Amino acid sequence: MPGPFKIIDISQPVTSRTACFPGDVPFSKRVTVTYKESKVVNLTALTMSPHVGTHADAPIHCYGDLGEGRDTAGDMPLQPFIGPAVVVDLSPITTGISPEHFRETIEKLSDFPHRVLFKTAKLIRYEVFEEHYAFCTVEAVKYLADRGVGLIGIDTPSVDNVGSKALDAHAALIEAKMCWLENLDLTNVETGEYFLVAPPLKFMELEASPVRAILIDSDAGVLR
Ligand SMILES: [Zn+2]
Repeated sequence: MPGPFKIIDISQPVTSRTACFPGDVPFSKRVTVTYKESKVVNLTALTMSPHVGTHADAPIHCYGDLGEGRDTAGDMPLQPFIGPAVVVDLSPITTGISPEHFRETIEKLSDFPHRVLFKTAKLIRYEVFEEHYAFCTVEAVKYLADRGVGLIGIDTPSVDNVGSKALDAHAALIEAKMCWLENLDLTNVETGEYFLVAPPLKFMELEASPVRAILIDSDAGVLR
């Protein structure tokens, strides 16, 4: 039965072929029990960097000691990951996103959004690590932070430039206590207002977590 509202899946598929950051650990699985042999269940164990596919980075990704359990994926607030969100379609763009790229679109809205997702690609080839992709400038992060935005999202592997070692955008987001999503797939989404649901899993010892990110088309008005 279709629901009274439209759900748009904005997650990238995670398979053994899903590309990951160079040097990172891709998804793989080991079958530990087969239904065929056990006549009870199929069972697997998985290995992957939590940055494979659509995910949220936790603050501890960029500083500190994982052993302490604070600022990890499971320790993040859920509020930023669930609620009204605006998608801004900038595609195609493979450079830094600055406020000039989205200011006009966002300021036209009656309420300034708390969540902003940037569509930078018209096509996502999830099996390919794109060498050149769009990222957020520190100016963009500061502009959004100053206006109360609590979460941003992007359809590229990182909020920072591919070769960045300083991770300035990550640092600016952490300083502003903002959350962020990476590796979204917004190819089927237009500029507009939606309702985002993308909470991280409660991994208390990890610096990131996969999410199943969805948008609910707010035209239906059910979640307003
Ligand atoms: Zn990440």
